Amino acid sequence: MNKTVQREAILSELRKMNTHPTADELYAVLRPKVPQISLGTIYRNLEDMANRGVIRKLELTGRQKRFDGDASPHYHARCRECDRIFNLAAPRLDEVDKLLASLMPELGCSGVYLEWSGLCPACREKEQQLQNQKAKEVEQDEKREVVSLSAVRTGR
Ligand SMILES: [Zn+2]
Ligand SMILES: [Zn+2]
Repeated sequence: MNKTVQREAILSELRKMNTHPTADELYAVLRPKVPQISLGTIYRNLEDMANRGVIRKLELTGRQKRFDGDASPHYHARCRECDRIFNLAAPRLDEVDKLLASLMPELGCSGVYLEWSGLCPACREKEQQLQNQKAKEVEQDEKREVVSLSAVRTGR
């Protein structure tokens, strides 16, 4: 399989995914479809396409790089619990980006990478369930205490 076909396969698969996958995640999806493809090939192509502005690369210190098939300007929100990334519908605030970049002229900033942090709906629901469960446990503990207290009082 030639390089162009491989590249096309990588790009079309990435564009189908809205999860902003890592190279590993993309490899897992591509391998059954394109058995000849290697992780190295995927990685090289992703880096190259990101450098040419065909796709976007999301880099955050200490985390695996993620890739976005949608190169149009948009903001991201990352769930602090499960690390998933979501596109934000909010319009890109060019003035804010420029202002932030200009705050540190000594760094020669050419841009700003802004990312929202929050809790995604799935994790929020999980947290809510956990809290409900805890509340129930506390309630049961309190009941148990009341029972043992009344047992003491009646001398049993
Ligand atoms: Zn989450
Ligand atoms: Zn995105």
